[in-house]
Amino acid sequence: MSNTTKPLLNRYQTFNFGHTRPVIKGNVDVSHGTVLYMEDVSVSFDGFKALNNLSLYINDGELRCLIGPNGAGKTTLMDVITGKTQADSGSVYFGQTIDLQQMDEAAIAQAGICRKFQKPSVFEKLTVFENLELSLKADKGAWVTLFATLNGEQRDRIDEVLEIIGMTSLRFQLAGILSHGQKQWLEIGMLLMQDPRVMLVDEPVAGMTHQEIDRTAELLLSLQGKHSVVVVEHDMEFVRSIADKVTVLHEGSVLMEGTMDEVQNDPRVIQVYLGE
Ligand code: ADP
Ligand code: MG
Repeated sequence: MSNTTKPLLNRYQTFNFGHTRPVIKGNVDVSHGTVLYMEDVSVSFDGFKALNNLSLYINDGELRCLIGPNGAGKTTLMDVITGKTQADSGSVYFGQTIDLQQMDEAAIAQAGICRKFQKPSVFEKLTVFENLELSLKADKGAWVTLFATLNGEQRDRIDEVLEIIGMTSLRFQLAGILSHGQKQWLEIGMLLMQDPRVMLVDEPVAGMTHQEIDRTAELLLSLQGKHSVVVVEHDMEFVRSIADKVTVLHEGSVLMEGTMDEVQNDPRVIQVYLGE
C-alpha cells in the first residue's frame, strides 16, 4: 500500500512550492461558453507526431467522451492540458485568458484542472472521511495535518461530496478495504473536494463490475453543469450511457465529433477501429 500514498504527498508538496504564479480560482473567463481551448497543438516524440495539429474545444460544464484506438494520442492530450508534456506548437487555454503553456503542473492543478489517473490512489490506512479531509486541506495550501479542526463549512462540503459519490454510509470505513469501484469513487470525491473547474478522467470503469459501471455513469452525469469532465474510455457501452458529444481521436488529430450514434455509424471511425 505504501506505493499508493506517494503521489498524493508529492502533490501536496508541489502545491506549496509551485514556481509559477497561482491563478486565483474562479477567475476563468468562460464568457464564450468554452472552458478549454486546444488549437493546432502538435507534440512530437523523436519525430513521431503523437498530436498532430489537434484542435479541441470543451464547453463549460459539459461531459465529453474521448475515444480512439491505442496510440491515437489520448493520454498525450491529457498530458498537454495538465502541463506534464510541453506542446511543440499550438495553444492551450483555460477559458479565454489563461495560457496553460505558461504554467507548470502544480499551478495548473491549483487553477482548477485536475486529473484522475486510471489506478486509484487513496490513503488506505485512513477512513473515507479522512481521505476527503486531507484533499480539502491540500487545496488550502496548508501543511498536511489531520489534527487541525474542520470548520462547519468544511464539514458540510465533505458531507456534500460523500453524498455525491454515494458513500455517506461508508464514511468511517478504512479506504484499504473498499472495493475497487468504491476506491475509484472516493478518488473522484477527493478531486471534487478541490472543486475543480475541469476534471480529466482516464478509463474510470476499467476493472469495475457492471453495477459499479452503472453507478460511475450516474456519478459522472451528476457532475454535468458544475464541472467540465473529459472522460477517456474504451468501454463503448459505458460511453454510450454517458455521452452527449463524443470526440474520436486518430493519429494525433480529431477524426470526428458527434453523438455516439453518429460516431459509431461513421465509415471513417469504423475503418480506424477495424484496423486496430
Ligand atoms: P493513447 O493514449 O491514445 O493510446 P498516447 O497518447 O499514449 O496514445 O500515445 C500516442 C503515441 O505517442 C503513441 O504512438 C505512443 O507510442 C507515443 N508516445 C507517447 N508518449 C511517448 C513518449 N514519452 N515517448 C515516445 N513516444 C511516446
Ligand atoms: Mg492512453
